[in-house]
Formats: sequence, C-alpha cells, structure tokens
Amino acid sequence: MLEIRPNCECCDKDLPADSLEAMICSYECTFCLNCVEGTLKNVCPNCGGDLTKRPLRPMTARRAGLSLRHQPASTERIKTKFSLDELKEFSDSVKDIAPKNR
Ligand SMILES: [Zn+2]
Ligand SMILES: [Zn+2]
Repeated sequence: MLEIRPNCECCDKDLPADSLEAMICSYECTFCLNCVEGTLKNVCPNCGGDLTKRPLRPMTARRAGLSLRHQPASTERIKTKFSLDELKEFSDSVKDIAPKNR
C-alpha cells in the first residue's frame, strides 16, 4: 500500500494527503512539484527514477474499509541527506536519460 508521506524530502514543504502538488517515485520518495520541476529536474535523488503525481486516496469509503480514514497518511517526516549542490549534480547527470532507459 502506498505510504502517503507528509512532506517534501527536499524543501520540507507540507504535502498533506489532499495535496495536488505531491509527486512520488516508484519507491514512494516524495517531493513537491516545485522541487521536481526545479532542483530535481524530474529525477528522484534517491533512486534516479522519474516522479509522477501522487494519487489522492478517497476521503469517503465507497468500498468497505477503503478510505483515508481507514488507512491514514504517514506522519513521519523524511528529510534528504543530500546537500542542494549534491541534489543538483545528481539530477544533471541523469535528467537527459529517458526514464525507461534509466
Ligand atoms: Zn519541495
Ligand atoms: Zn526514488
């Protein structure tokens, strides 16, 4: 099940479960749209994969037992261990490789 993380690993912006600017990689690394388009250039700094919009978990259980209330978002904030320069250097080295070839 997708872990809905509460913040951008890069700039620490709050990304609540209903945020439309939360982006994730296939490992659920989570960033804000601003960082993805700017600093990260659509490269996850942890795995090198691409990033895509995080789906919204339904507020209402339209199927029994399945909703944000039943499976709430994570509250554990994650902060990148890389410096801004390290992030940019990594992104620059990977950004021109198409995601399917990474
Ligand atoms: Zn950010
Ligand atoms: Zn990743």
